[in-house]
Amino acid sequence: MKLEILKNALLKIKTRFLDLLFPIECLGCGGENDWLCQECLAKIKYKKIEQCVVCKETTVFGQTHTSCREKTALDGMIVAAEWEDKILQEAIHKYKYNFVQGLAEPLSKILIQKIKRLEQLALWQGQKIVLMPVPLHKKRYHWRGFNQAALLAARVAKYFGWETQDLVLKRERYTKPQAKLKKEERERNMVGAFGASAITSEHASETVVILVDDVVTTGATMNECANILKANGVKTVWGLALARG
Ligand SMILES: [Zn+2]
Ligand SMILES: [Zn+2]
Repeated sequence: MKLEILKNALLKIKTRFLDLLFPIECLGCGGENDWLCQECLAKIKYKKIEQCVVCKETTVFGQTHTSCREKTALDGMIVAAEWEDKILQEAIHKYKYNFVQGLAEPLSKILIQKIKRLEQLALWQGQKIVLMPVPLHKKRYHWRGFNQAALLAARVAKYFGWETQDLVLKRERYTKPQAKLKKEERERNMVGAFGASAITSEHASETVVILVDDVVTTGATMNECANILKANGVKTVWGLALARG
C-alpha cells in the first residue's frame, strides 16, 4: 500500500517535471493552454472512406468483408483520421513517447466525433457495448506509467455511457512466433498470452466489444485480442483507433 502511495507521488513529480519541460501549447497553432485547441481540433482530417481491416478496400461502416473474415477475428475496424494528418501524428507521438497525458482529452474527442458521424451506433443498437483498451506489455506500462489506450477508452466510454473492461494480460512470458505454430497450438499460445478471463458476463453473446488503441498498423494485436474474446463467447468484436500507421 505504502509503495503504491510512493509510486503515485513519483508519478505526479514526473508529470510536473514534464509539464515544465514541455509547456502546454497547441501543437497546431502554438496557442497557449491547450494541447490541441478547438480550431485545430476542427481541422483534423477525418477518414471519409471506411476500409476493411484485412484488404484495405472500401467497405460499409468499416465492416470486415465476408470474404476477408477467415483472415481476422475482427468484425470491423473504425479508424478515425488520416495518418497523413501531421498535427495528429505529432499529437499521437507526444502522447505516447513524451508521456503527455493531457492529450488524452483532445485525442479522445477525435474518436468521439468519428463515432458520432458514423451509422455504427445504429448498427450496434440494442446491444451492450464494452470498450476494451488493447493491453500493454507490463514492462512498457512501468516505463510509460500509463496505458495510453486505456485513457482514451475511458473518455469515449464516459461520453457514450458505455462500459469499459480490461483484457487481463498475461503476456510476461513472450509468445512463440505464431507463424511457426499449428492452428490449435496457436490458439493455446494466445490464451496463455492474454489470459482467458476477459469477459465473464453471461451476456457475452449479446455484447459488442470494441478494442481501443491509439494507432493500428497491421491489426495483428487487435486480432489476437479478438480471438481470445471470441473463444470466451463474445459474438462481435470491433477495433477503434485514431489512425492507421
Ligand atoms: Zn491550435
Ligand atoms: Zn476485405
